[in-house]
Amino acid sequence: MSVTMYPSSKATELPVVLGGSPAVASDDDSLFHWPIVTAEDEKAVVDVLRAGKMSAWDITEKFEAEWGAYLGTRYNLAHCNGTMALLAAMFGVGVGRGDEIIVPSMTYWASGLQAMLLGATPVFAEVDPQSLCIDPKGIEKLITPRTKAIIAVHYCGHPADMDAILEIARRRNIKVIEDVSHAQGSLYKGRLCGSMGDVAGISMMAGKSFAIGEAGMLSTNDRTIFERAIALCHYERCAQHVQEPELRKMVAPVNARTAMPLAGLKGRVNQTCSAMGRVQLKYYPQRIKEIQSAINRFWDLLDGTPGLRPHRCNLAEGSTMGGWYNPLGHYSPEELGGLSVGAFVDAVNAEGSNRTFRGSNYPLHLHAVMRDADVYHDGKPTRIAFSDRDLREPIGSLPITEGLHARCIGIPYFKHDEPELIAQYANAFKKVANSAEKLVKHVQAAT
Ligand SMILES: *Cc1c(COP(=O)(O)O)cnc(C)c1O
Repeated sequence: MSVTMYPSSKATELPVVLGGSPAVASDDDSLFHWPIVTAEDEKAVVDVLRAGKMSAWDITEKFEAEWGAYLGTRYNLAHCNGTMALLAAMFGVGVGRGDEIIVPSMTYWASGLQAMLLGATPVFAEVDPQSLCIDPKGIEKLITPRTKAIIAVHYCGHPADMDAILEIARRRNIKVIEDVSHAQGSLYKGRLCGSMGDVAGISMMAGKSFAIGEAGMLSTNDRTIFERAIALCHYERCAQHVQEPELRKMVAPVNARTAMPLAGLKGRVNQTCSAMGRVQLKYYPQRIKEIQSAINRFWDLLDGTPGLRPHRCNLAEGSTMGGWYNPLGHYSPEELGGLSVGAFVDAVNAEGSNRTFRGSNYPLHLHAVMRDADVYHDGKPTRIAFSDRDLREPIGSLPITEGLHARCIGIPYFKHDEPELIAQYANAFKKVANSAEKLVKHVQAAT
């Protein structure tokens, strides 16, 4: 007979750092492990290896068709990673030398940095303090005659405000590229992220929510974008797909065997990833539903706790957080006697699990690669090498983005909805929040 023991810890007890007992009695990796790999994934991958078909694209084409059926996009082109898929998306919509793209500063670098390979300039936008996605209200003042595209990043699974972004883009004749690397399966008012803009670039690397190795996907309904992407970095497949006569003359001038990629880049995906992708996709909707109920449960348990609010979209209007990649909370030190997020994280992690961390990315507009690096010896910073002005944003120009390091907290990334276990982690957060005043004194005494 087995007996399950649940901790007796209450939210009113002292945190471990003040002498209490741990809220998390059993930190079990199986609650967090990802991706879920079964014998079906293993067989699919090993079959590719045994057949020696890693560099072919027959299985990739099947994966692309199935992904397209899931997302509702006509043209789907797998890439070696999300960075390359987004580069191909930028080239696909026509980004080139001297052009500008508008991208939020609060994102991973691969939402926009590769535009500099095309001689284009990323222009950084402020984020909305609730969604942490690009704030549509700040977009118009950044648009110039050189602006070619807006990159809408669905940050940490939260859908960007696509209605407002698309309205601006259509009116100003600018393309919208969705970066869906955090938001595979997220819904925006009932529509899947990645199906609303002109094109989507989607990371599928091992750490993401749809995780199949090193892989990425470009998805679009626009034939021109697809053909340009395939001409850029898929030298064998381009002969089959590029129909536009001018483009075809360039990439396959004599016959299919002489095809060359425009960029001198190879973007093909390893078919082990495509094979795993086909298996993962079958189970993905049901698996992320469980993640959503687990993380919604965690946040509902914390309802009313001072200093902590969910980073969560409006579920009532048919939006979801998808696979809830890198789940974050909004942290308000002013409600917690000034306790810093770093001290809060340390106190929660002392409760018996190391799964809480300081959230948010480093603001891109402040990074040396975006400010100073002259990568290609142009005699000026690469970011503005082909610009008509110096548009580097000074420190202080994007205050919400720049302040997020003190106002974001990364919460445990639950993959399974286990109510009793999740309650332990919620209790850890509650205990620490409810002892904030004592913790501030404790931190002061220690320094
Ligand atoms: C991971 C990521 C990418 C890049 O994808 P890779 O597959 O790692 O190349 C792009 N954008 C965002 C927002 C990401 O998090």
